Amino acid sequence: MISVADPLVLDGRRYDTGEPVRVVCRGASIESVEPLPVRESIETWPWIAPGLFDLQINGHGGVWFCDPQLTAEQASRAIAAYWRFGVTRLCPTLITSSFEALAAGFAAIRAACEADPLVDATVAGCHLEGPYLSGLDGPRGAHPKDQIRPADWDEFSRLQALSGQRIRLVTIAPEVEGAEAFIRQAVSAGVVVSIGHTAANPEQIRQAVAAGARCSTHLGNGCLAQIHRHQNHLWPQLAEPKLTCCLILDGHHLPADFVQVCLQVKGVSNTVLTCDAAGWAGCPPGNYSCHLGQSEILESGKLVVAGQRELLAGSADETDVCVTKIREFTGVGWREAIDMTSRNPAKLLGCEPARLRRGGRAELFQFTHASATARLGVLSTVLNGVVVHGQPWQSP
Ligand SMILES: [Zn+2]
Repeated sequence: MISVADPLVLDGRRYDTGEPVRVVCRGASIESVEPLPVRESIETWPWIAPGLFDLQINGHGGVWFCDPQLTAEQASRAIAAYWRFGVTRLCPTLITSSFEALAAGFAAIRAACEADPLVDATVAGCHLEGPYLSGLDGPRGAHPKDQIRPADWDEFSRLQALSGQRIRLVTIAPEVEGAEAFIRQAVSAGVVVSIGHTAANPEQIRQAVAAGARCSTHLGNGCLAQIHRHQNHLWPQLAEPKLTCCLILDGHHLPADFVQVCLQVKGVSNTVLTCDAAGWAGCPPGNYSCHLGQSEILESGKLVVAGQRELLAGSADETDVCVTKIREFTGVGWREAIDMTSRNPAKLLGCEPARLRRGGRAELFQFTHASATARLGVLSTVLNGVVVHGQPWQSP
């Protein structure tokens, strides 16, 4: 599947300007991006864009990164599965679990990275979502109640060591015991802190921001079903310009008007899109069971906690759905949709974003889009100058 050509030549319409270009990659870098003559048939050309970057990926194809039995081979397979959706970087996300399960997961991901340079390049960092979250039904979402616990910097430090210093993002609820001190320690250690799975009051949100929190994890999900009209956790997060807003754009987690409000308040540059893919992503509709409990993928593609229809359990789709759903929900163009799913998450984590320009990382993908409601048709994905999915398209 993986092929290497040097130089590697890809043509397409730039995602940001629509201009037809030829991108030449040599080694792991982009050697040139040159305009091509405009022809009548350009409407049929694929688009070309920087690779997608997802901050919140829990697994794929039945593999969960927080599975206590996770092997390096399984982790590697679940990470590489995203290449075919145009994703070149992601954060394997481990949710609330026992210390032993988290330790096994981080150790397996570390081993997967150490065994394969392309997997290593794909893992921009790990995301620890929990276990320092609200234990209330609603805010905790599908996180197991019996494993939710107070913030524990010593535990985090041990997990960080096991991951090989890969944990770059942690989601915490500001109201848990010890949260403020934990946030300060994490920030001083270079870890980005995000607020999520919370029922915090406005003052607790403000204290978390003062301590250094810089992001809201899936704002509008992982919260109480009913909240006070003024004193709630949403307004202070929307009002705070220091908080980047992360939204699940799989089409099931949020209604379009909520997404429109967030985008208008935060702007494109302060918004990040994620699919929050569950370990069941890529599986057909049906009932599934793992150490986290029972889930069901409905015919609509919605993934719920089994036995009801309201409580979601992550997404069954991959990151490319965010790009099409944000366009459908808000009317933004490819430039904005892809910047929110590529450049912005990189910037939040302090990584060099992939860019279509000379000297940039050879990290891009080509795609078609058959109709407004279709998923992207990913023709090729290139990572570090290597074709990790499909075949590069060149103009006839
Ligand atoms: Zn979550």
